[in-house]
Amino acid sequence: MLDYEDARALVFKNVIALEKWLCPLTESQGLALSEDILAPHGMPLFDNSAVDGYAVQAADLATASRDKPVRLEKLGYISAGDTGEERIVSGQCVQIATGAPLPPGADTSVMKEDIELDESHVRFFQPIRKTENVRYYGEDIAEGQTVIAAGTVIGPAQMAVLATFGFAEVPVRRVPKISIVSTGSELVDVEQNPQTGQIRESNRYMLAGMVKQESCEVVKMSMVPDIPEILKQEFEEALQADVALVSGGMSVGDKDFAKPLLKEMGVEEIFWKIKFKPGKPLFFGRRGKTLVFGLPGNPASSYVLFEEFVRPALRQLMGRRILEEGMVKARLDEAILKTHPRLHFMRGKLYVENGEYHVRPLNFQGSHSIGSLVESNALIRVEANSPSLPKGCQVSVRPLLNEIG
Ligand code: AMP
Ligand code: MG
Repeated sequence: MLDYEDARALVFKNVIALEKWLCPLTESQGLALSEDILAPHGMPLFDNSAVDGYAVQAADLATASRDKPVRLEKLGYISAGDTGEERIVSGQCVQIATGAPLPPGADTSVMKEDIELDESHVRFFQPIRKTENVRYYGEDIAEGQTVIAAGTVIGPAQMAVLATFGFAEVPVRRVPKISIVSTGSELVDVEQNPQTGQIRESNRYMLAGMVKQESCEVVKMSMVPDIPEILKQEFEEALQADVALVSGGMSVGDKDFAKPLLKEMGVEEIFWKIKFKPGKPLFFGRRGKTLVFGLPGNPASSYVLFEEFVRPALRQLMGRRILEEGMVKARLDEAILKTHPRLHFMRGKLYVENGEYHVRPLNFQGSHSIGSLVESNALIRVEANSPSLPKGCQVSVRPLLNEIG
């Protein structure tokens, strides 16, 4: 049986980033840039005023004071969008809007709130430093500078930069296509009433939700009884995707057909079973370019395994630089007395108190527990065969994207 770290390394080794393409900017959120974005020009795009006020020559105001204001002749008004080409000379000023180009001759801009109008003139009451209230060409972003590194996921800030530099189309990696097949003869659909021995199927919805958090596309979602002929049909279709997530049937039960069938259908086993809790029977394989994750049917196992194995793999497929947010240190609020021979990622409640992370392990850690999923926003890493962990000690915690009440 593989260690968690070795198993993850094998996953990362087998994931190859998908092809590059040019995606319309409006559809690019959540995808990762496939190339560095270099600024084709500087920003600001031209020297402009940072305030609504009056463009002047700073030297003209050197002697200005409350008692002895300086009067300058007022020319016109340069509003945002004007070319602002008219030159001012010593003794003159021109009204200017925020973002309007600084006219030739001017070297600074005085706030409207600091002046008084005097018919065709403007009175100034204090000196001003040259360059104050001016935004210069390229001072924010220099021409040629790498503004966003390849592999960065596109969010609102990146959208702003891409739009600024004219990227109507954005170089990204193709959106991964994911298929999800839930297996189990006990499963019924969400709108059905389970009869004795049956349960409503939930993993499809859970996994699809997690896939969508990563901006990947769910191309197939199905629920199949443990009947080999039907399973085979569904798997064949699922194997057309970039990643197939198969839920259930990965263990050693008499009706756990999923794993042997996948192998029979040409899926190469990269590993099966890991020294990990919850979710020991994780299967990982590939057929051609399709990656296959076989997740045990217990919802909490699937959930945790998705976090630790599938989510970072999807990010790698998308060419993302950051495969996971990383773990934080938190103070344990309740002792963990019982530990296991396998590495355990325990569900917990993470919160901040006095600027410090605290975490409380949930009482119920059963791998079938749906309740603990909605109650947890973090996973606490408890090493294999760890001595019991006293209250107050520091533990490593993986924060999850899950809002808890
Ligand atoms: P399995 O991995 O197929 O042995 O299933 C393990 C446990 O998870 C059993 O109690 C199943 O009833 C349950 N289970 C399997 N698949 C699902 C599913 N898609 N949704 C909810 N529970 C499931
Ligand atoms: Mg089953």
